[in-house]
Amino acid sequence: MSNIIATKRVDLLAPYMALDQGSQVQAEYVWVDGDGGLRCKTMTLDEAPKSVADLREWNFDGSSTNQAPGDNSDVFLRPVAIFKDPFRGGANILVLCECYDNDGTPNKSNHRAHAKKVMDAAKETEPWFGLEQEYTLFDYDGQVYGWPKNGFPGPQGPYYCGVGAGKVFARDFIEAHYRACLYAGVKISGINAEVMPSQWEFQVGPCEGIELGDHLWMARFLLLRIGEEWGIRPSFHPKPLKGDWNGAGCHSNFSTKAMRTPGKGMAAIEDAIKKLEKRHLEHMTVYGEDNDQRLTGHHETASMHTFSAGVANRGASIRIPRHVGARATATSRTVAPLPTLTPTAVSTQSYASLPLDLIYPIHTLLPLPLRPTIGEFTSILVETTILNA
Ligand SMILES: [Mg+2]
Repeated sequence: MSNIIATKRVDLLAPYMALDQGSQVQAEYVWVDGDGGLRCKTMTLDEAPKSVADLREWNFDGSSTNQAPGDNSDVFLRPVAIFKDPFRGGANILVLCECYDNDGTPNKSNHRAHAKKVMDAAKETEPWFGLEQEYTLFDYDGQVYGWPKNGFPGPQGPYYCGVGAGKVFARDFIEAHYRACLYAGVKISGINAEVMPSQWEFQVGPCEGIELGDHLWMARFLLLRIGEEWGIRPSFHPKPLKGDWNGAGCHSNFSTKAMRTPGKGMAAIEDAIKKLEKRHLEHMTVYGEDNDQRLTGHHETASMHTFSAGVANRGASIRIPRHVGARATATSRTVAPLPTLTPTAVSTQSYASLPLDLIYPIHTLLPLPLRPTIGEFTSILVETTILNA
């Protein structure tokens, strides 16, 4: 019922959204809050900005978002990326922001500021990322969307990349998100239905450097925002349902220029894997909460306690796709660039080729809500499909 009401609201809204707004532009400032959720608020601009440099710093009450104490509650929003607004259309924009405290230092929730420094330091390695964001749909009542109210759908099998009634859930919602991402300028590279019914995935990338986190966060924002209209609540929890149902991960695909060099890439990949292995347990501690529920070694995952790597091994921490392995060892005349090594968890892997002291901070590229899914870091590292642009 709730989703029907939501749809009617959209219909009522339509004539107002068609009204002329003159030369003024609505800028929706979007930021990550103290719990890894997303927040937003709107500012009217007299004209469209040409870049983020034209946008004003803004502030908000951080005591209401778990980002500041009540007696010193101002937190500041600094614009870092602009996207087109698929909800308001026209010249209206979405503005991704970093959060800063009163003294000019990054807010505790702002992992991007440090990640940006690391990315800048690693610029010459040309780090490419692709993320595979899996998520699960819930309705207002907290039930998995589309599942029988007093039971379960049939066991997993027909749902992954499924087609047909009873096998696919909420395809219209997914289509809306896909198109909204394309319109906004988010580098979404594909979607697919996942193994558990009402579980989906979208992919973002290839992106170079800090751009990856920006595009993934905006894709998440669009997903949550569109969910308001459908009455759907997407969850990024790594194991939203106990029992014999697949969890949701965020496989990371990663490569550096050296890894993409024909004939030489495999050596760079192997070198990165060695570095990752050495710090596996340390890395796991920053990949987010509840990964122990998903990274069990079952349901197409690697155990979070053991590091592993292999060609075409879906149960390994780091998976090197077979075609990457084949190409990487080819000695000559490899015309196509080596696709990317796709580390599963963007953060660390990519940095594997960097000096070790730079690696740790990188995990924080993807803040808390993402980290649970990114925890999958250990689950598959190397994947080329997305990045093989
Ligand atoms: Mg998947």
